[in-house]
Amino acid sequence: MTVFDEMESDVRTYCRRFPAVFTRSLGHRMWDEEGRVYVDFLSGAGALNYGHNPPEVRAAAVEYLLADGPVHGLDLHTTAKAAFLNRFRDVVLAPRGMDHRVQFTGPTGTNAVEAAFKTARRVTGRTGIMAFTGGFHGLSLGALAASATSFKRAAAGVPLTHVSRVPYEGFAGEGVDTIDYLTRLLDDPGSGVDLPAAFVVETVQGEGGLTAASPQWLRRLAEVAKERSILLIVDDIQAGCGRTGTFFSFEEAGIVPDLVCLSKSISGFGLPMALVLVRPEFDRLGPGEHSGTFRGNNLAFVTATACLDYWAEPAFGKQVQENADHLAGLLGELAAAFPHLGTSVRGRGLLRGLAFTDHGFADRVSRSAFGKGLLVETSGARGEVLKIMPPIVTDHEGLRHGISVLADAITTTAAEGKQP
Ligand code: PLP
Repeated sequence: MTVFDEMESDVRTYCRRFPAVFTRSLGHRMWDEEGRVYVDFLSGAGALNYGHNPPEVRAAAVEYLLADGPVHGLDLHTTAKAAFLNRFRDVVLAPRGMDHRVQFTGPTGTNAVEAAFKTARRVTGRTGIMAFTGGFHGLSLGALAASATSFKRAAAGVPLTHVSRVPYEGFAGEGVDTIDYLTRLLDDPGSGVDLPAAFVVETVQGEGGLTAASPQWLRRLAEVAKERSILLIVDDIQAGCGRTGTFFSFEEAGIVPDLVCLSKSISGFGLPMALVLVRPEFDRLGPGEHSGTFRGNNLAFVTATACLDYWAEPAFGKQVQENADHLAGLLGELAAAFPHLGTSVRGRGLLRGLAFTDHGFADRVSRSAFGKGLLVETSGARGEVLKIMPPIVTDHEGLRHGISVLADAITTTAAEGKQP
């Protein structure tokens, strides 16, 4: 029995699927204590967009530590925080015409979502949040109420309230326009639906099966929100920070949300950090109303600033797009190679999914892939979709290699399924 089996809570999860003991990680690779090497298409569930230990970012962190820079800072002013805010304004916000304030929250995605909900409720005086089928926003009670998976919801142990559920694009079948449906619900005095404080939406549902909303659908949602003074919260915790090919996942749709939640890859080094971007007129929580001990992870500010240096170079964004295009090509070929499995490609950029007719197939492929040296997880309420999420900086050769291991795992799994 390992120390993990002996001592760690039963709630642990990823380590059950990938039961190696890791000792080293660099770029898109990880090594275990037996010296086996793995291609990482898991990317820390979206926290490692720039790969493991990106050298420039690591160097900035080491330099800061060696200079005795304050690591923990509540929300005290530090040079590290000032550098991050300045760089974030110059590299991310200003070029996109955004003048949002930055609210540092507790360092998890779910805490950023809680803060966004509080703000929306304060601003509108309404209590309800409208969330979408397939959505995932975190596991603390407020965010869990907005998350869709029944298995996760059941763990709450209390009623999950003040969230109503509406269909995401495509949920009700191809013929059903879910924005029309939503509009009808909001506008028909006989619908029994109250106006919500906010919509919370992911542009690509990272945990909900990699369904991607079209730019048109997102634009229409933004209009519906604006016309009715409903705040639009884009949860970009997983899809943001370059994951879909642009810094924010909503850029392609040309919308500017009222509130944006960012976490996971904002620190770029796997360090805990989360924030909410708030339109200035909606920055209405008073001092201390959403407080927290770990809102000032200065080491994370340092690494986050170093990652913004990447984005300051237009060539970086171009390279990410090229990587996304390359991955799209590889996945297209892969799906075409297994038509008998009903293989289809989902998602956008480097946040991709492979769905199969047999809902148990993705899970078996993931386990087989691990045995062949590839970390690839599943997504969707039934774990029915393989989630392909390499670091966005993975070069073409790395992508090709990972996809070839995946193809091998699919072949093996399909052959096993045929055995009597
Ligand atoms: N929102 C989205 C879109 C997520 O994908 C996640 C985590 O997977 C969260 C919120 C919650 O983030 P955390 O696990 O850091 O609380």
